Amino acid sequence: MAEAADSARTIAELVAATPFVDTHEHLSDESRRLDALAGSEGKPATVCDFSLLFSHYADSDLIVAGLPPDDMKQIRETAMSPKEKFRLLAPYYAAARHTGYQRNVRESVRLLYGEDDLTEANCERISERLAEGVKPGFYRHILKDVARVEYCQVNNLDSCVFCETEMPELLAQDISTVPLCTGLDIVNVERLAEREAYSLKDWKEIIDWCFATFGPRAIATKNQCAYGRALDFEQVSEEDAAPLFERLLTKGPKDLSNEERKAVEDHLFHYCIDQAAEYRLPVKLHTGYYAGHGGMPLHRVRANAGDLCPVMKAHRNANFVLFHIDYPYQDEAIALAKHYPNAYVDMCWAWIINPRASVRFLKEYLMAAPANKVFTFGGDYRPVELVPGHAAVARQGLAQAITELVHEKWLDIDDAPELIDRIMRGNAHALYHYEDTLEHWSSHERTT
Ligand SMILES: [Zn+2]
Repeated sequence: MAEAADSARTIAELVAATPFVDTHEHLSDESRRLDALAGSEGKPATVCDFSLLFSHYADSDLIVAGLPPDDMKQIRETAMSPKEKFRLLAPYYAAARHTGYQRNVRESVRLLYGEDDLTEANCERISERLAEGVKPGFYRHILKDVARVEYCQVNNLDSCVFCETEMPELLAQDISTVPLCTGLDIVNVERLAEREAYSLKDWKEIIDWCFATFGPRAIATKNQCAYGRALDFEQVSEEDAAPLFERLLTKGPKDLSNEERKAVEDHLFHYCIDQAAEYRLPVKLHTGYYAGHGGMPLHRVRANAGDLCPVMKAHRNANFVLFHIDYPYQDEAIALAKHYPNAYVDMCWAWIINPRASVRFLKEYLMAAPANKVFTFGGDYRPVELVPGHAAVARQGLAQAITELVHEKWLDIDDAPELIDRIMRGNAHALYHYEDTLEHWSSHERTT
């Protein structure tokens, strides 16, 4: 018994002492948060109180528990007093308080503001502390000192394709391939590249320009089209895709049938994978569960892992990272990582979707697939304040998974230190060329 308690403590200490490489966030640049707080150019200041902590995940649990969506909108978007806001959400927070999303909120409140819970009595104090905390340097403090991450990989949602971040060391950037292939944001991409497309050939040259311009400084490519379509990307020839794409340009996207639109997207998706491989950029894909509430088509989601098999087989020189463990189909993600040399699995967001399932996933993953192909943390947040809470949930789950494997005699305690270092940070350093991107950022700075 004493031995079991010893190994549990040793593992918890190792996990606490090891920084994560955070492989997925949606953080805006810090200056944007500072500007939003002040309000600028006629825009009012954005609401900055405790309700920020319910951003884009915890709010969904409250609504699913019965909170009217209009009330949530009031809570998030108006200057109603914190106490009034808390009273509106209190019954639903009580109902949902054991979920990973709400636990994430409490862990952040504990780590950042020293309070054990969010209550009517402290919601004003927490709101004040939160607003005071938004000041120059707060990203570095929260991410490095509190969440203890080495650096974050960011899929920035404010920019088209790529964010020219002010903080490349802290916030490594993904190239979003959504505007280039599956979302086809032609107007904004043309503006970015300062040239117009009149044919598929032109558009591919614009894609080439994007990769040549941003690829050396990017950490990966990211695509979340799984929110809108199946991942069954077929091989569509250039001859078949070109006239469809040209019709899309001249007559508008509505002129294409769903099948024709899919053919264009499929062709361009494969093209972007080739580009990613050329620039050694791992291909990150949203798989599995949907954020939000009341809309997920689970039949289609269920096919994500299976749909990707021919894609991974066709692009053996590209590395694919399945985000969010493909929850709730994480067994299928394990099967892919075990079978395909170019399939990786990222636990970003999964720890708070379902903490207990994530513990089970990690144990089963490590028993089945090589340990160098799993990444164990990505907060997946826009507000930086929620990253420490997520990291705390991840550390607790990770320590539990490793401890259980040792106690169950599937893992030797002597193997734990190397394994923990690998899955928390080493794997990310091996797959992503972080140091190289920094060199390119600094030579870019010198030339611009
Ligand atoms: Zn995300």
